[in-house]
Order: sequence, then C-alpha cells, then structure tokens
Amino acid sequence: MSALSYLDPTPGSPWDTYLAQVDQVTPHLGKLARWVETLKRPKRALIVDIPIEMDNGDVRHFEGYRVQHNLSRGPGKGGVRYHPAVTLEEVLALSAWMTIKNAAVNIPYGGAKGGVRCDPKKLSLKELEKVTRRFTSEIGIVIGPTKDIPAPDVNTNAQVMAWMMDTYSANQGGTVTGVVTGKPVELGGSLGRVKATGRGVFLTARESAKGMGMALDEARVAVQGFGNVGSIAAELMAQAHAKVVAVQDHTGSLRNDAGLNIPALMQHVRDSGGVAGYAEAEAVDEEDFWGVPCDIMIPAALEGQVDGPRAQRIRARLLVEGANGPVNREADQVLLERGITVVPDVIANAGGVVVSYFEWVQDFSSFFWSEDEINLRLEAIQLGAFRDIQQRALALSVPLRTAAYVIACQRVLQAREERGLYP
Ligand code: NAD
Repeated sequence: MSALSYLDPTPGSPWDTYLAQVDQVTPHLGKLARWVETLKRPKRALIVDIPIEMDNGDVRHFEGYRVQHNLSRGPGKGGVRYHPAVTLEEVLALSAWMTIKNAAVNIPYGGAKGGVRCDPKKLSLKELEKVTRRFTSEIGIVIGPTKDIPAPDVNTNAQVMAWMMDTYSANQGGTVTGVVTGKPVELGGSLGRVKATGRGVFLTARESAKGMGMALDEARVAVQGFGNVGSIAAELMAQAHAKVVAVQDHTGSLRNDAGLNIPALMQHVRDSGGVAGYAEAEAVDEEDFWGVPCDIMIPAALEGQVDGPRAQRIRARLLVEGANGPVNREADQVLLERGITVVPDVIANAGGVVVSYFEWVQDFSSFFWSEDEINLRLEAIQLGAFRDIQQRALALSVPLRTAAYVIACQRVLQAREERGLYP
C-alpha cells in the first residue's frame, strides 16, 4: 500500500468539505475546468519548528504552518490561528477558502493561511511573544508585502501582528508595515479593521433579509461565538433593532426572548472571559441553543459546528456564516432541503480581508483614510460582490455557495490560464 499524500482528506474534515465544494462547481466552469486540479492542491505548504524557552526554563517545541494555496491573482493573504487543535490539514482548508473568498470579492490576492499548534491561554505574554517572533522568523522566507501577507485569526490580535511586523522588519533591516494587516493603528493599521468582519456579516445578513422580505427590526437573531466576529455582528444587529435572543460561546449558552443587552454582555465577556454567568438571561443546554426560535442564525465560532443533527434543529429562515466553514457537508444538504437560505462564509465574512486590503494599500502609500471612508468602501465592495453572487445563483438555479464558488473559481482559473505554465 502506498503512503498517504498530505493532500488526502480525512473524511468529514474541512479539507474534505472544500474538495467536495470544488467538485460541485466544476460542471459550471466550462473550458476552465481543465485547470481545476490547481484548486485541489496548494502551491506550497511550509511546516516549521518553533523552539521556545519557557518562563520556568524548560524548552518546548511548537509546530507552525504557513500554506499558500493559490497565488494566481496576487500575493497570498490570510490569517494566522493559534489553537491546540490546529493541523496542517485544517490550515490547508482555511488557505483554500481564502483563495475563494479573495476572488469572490474580487480583491487582488491569492489565498494563504497560517497556524501554530499551541494553547495561547496557557502561555504567558512573554511566551506568546517568543512563539510569535520565532514563527515569523521561520516563515520569513515565504511572507512579505508582495509575497504573502498574514493577518489575525482565532486567538491572534493586533498585538500579535505588531510583533510579527517588528520581527520581519528587524530581519529585513527596515520597517515593513505592509507585511501583515490587522496591526495597531499607530503602526500602520487601518481604522475600521477590528470591526470589519462583524460589520460585513451584518451587511450581508441585512441585504439577504431585505431580499426575503424580513424586517430586521422584527427579526430574532441567534449567534454562536461571541468573539471578534460574533460580538460585533450581534452589536450591529442590536443597533439595527433586531433582537439577539440567543448566544453561545465556549463557556456556555444563553437565551433571552426579549433580546439580550449586547453592550452589557460584551462588558461581561471582557470582565469574565465568556458569556457564562451573565445574569440577564436564561442559561440553556449547549444543544438546545440550536433549537431556539429565531429568524437569523449566525454561526461565528469555529468550523464544523453545524452538523446534520444541529441543522435539523435550526429554526431560522436565514443562516449567515460568520465563521469559516461552520456548516459541514451533511448539514449544508439538510439546510438546502429544509429551505433555509445559507449566506456562505466566502462572502459573509469577507469584510475583514477587504479592510485588510485597504490597510495594505494605505501602507504602500503611507496615506491613511477616515473610518467613514473605509466603511463606505467596505459596503460598496462587499455588497456589490454579494449582489453579483445572488444574481448568478438565480441565473444558474443554484445555492448562493455554489454561485460564489463559480464566480471565484472562474476568476482564479482565468488568471491561471492567462499566466500560463512555467516552464
Ligand atoms: P475569536 O477568538 O475572537 O472568537 C471565537 C469565539 O468562538 C469565542 O467567543 C469562543 O468562545 C467561541 N467558541 C470557540 N469554541 C467554541 C465552541 N466549541 N462552541 C461555541 N463557541 C465556541 O475568533 P474570531 O476572530 O471571532 O473568529 C471566529 C470565526 O470567524 C473563525 O472561524 C475565524 O476563522 C472566522 N473569521 C474571522 C475573521 C476576523 O477578522 N477575525 C475574519 C474572517 C473569518
């Protein structure tokens, strides 16, 4: 028996889900289908060792990854995730989804993603900084403003990006702000970046609701994940007078049919580290969260959270994917059969990468825009792309996800064909 290739998917994994998504759109790609294999393998995948001297003097090794899935349309772009369950296969899937997302919103990037297998909650700030700096130095051979531009993802933030920028700059011998996005504003970061993904989730949800004749000020919303993406989406929903009736994070699940007070809940999470223990709500069982009556469900935690049984329980008419890959293959089919509209991740959560693109552009010119300007440009790009996807879905009689993939894959493979093969 031959050894497995690292590209062979684990059944049911995000990479498996992605490969099935590509197979689904292939019949719609016409002549470009001859290039489709390009989408099923990354351009390069780098695995690095990160040895660190811990605060107690022990030496520990962490495993890091940077995968550049496709660079046909421009430099790689995608976040860096710190999580104990990160694997090469997971990063592979996430990098591929970035290729699709960047092409779906038509920004001039390929797709990439990175990760370090570590539990940042168990590291001191100094240890976290050491992990970040050594990881950056190790992947320094493949990143750069015209090569591949990392950004924050799960458990990484503006401080981590500042360390990455500083380390890369030190190794280059000059300040290179454009090597990462999601930096602090003082270091070349963009106004509006922190809230951009949640804002984009809100914008696409509002647009879909409008198309379905659903008034947002009468809508009930459930949000899984109350971190950067989920909490901002919930905050904007509440500001639009929707009722956020249920929230779940890794600490617990809450329900309040009268609508949760989102600013108060955000403060509670800042103070205590999670939604559990918030007084103005009823604590519910983890599985019961999925059956709470609502109109809009926003999974904004991690991939694979909505499986078949959970999809059967969801009471919403509209599901907007705040997280990357939150709905697995089986659940996608269940939601389709149940007539629940799914706004796919590659458009719903693209707001972060769109404002990252603005940050990169601003860094090149060292000329910075106002937050209003950024939010207006974000809305124009994201909703413009979303309307194109809606129209394509109607024209082809396919779900929004398939339409988004058709548009994105055509852009990537057209670029592939025009660039040609070397040699
Ligand atoms: P975050 O770390 O700020 O928040 C993650 C949230 O998910 C936390 O509230 C956590 O408690 C919750 N969570 C984790 N495991 C859970 C579980 N098993 N059940 C319920 N809740 C759980 O991360 P984030 O930046 O908000 O990212 C969330 C998702 O959005 C990820 O899939 C990420 O890839 C995606 N995303 C993020 C951005 C961005 O700009 N931050 C952009 C695009 C996509």
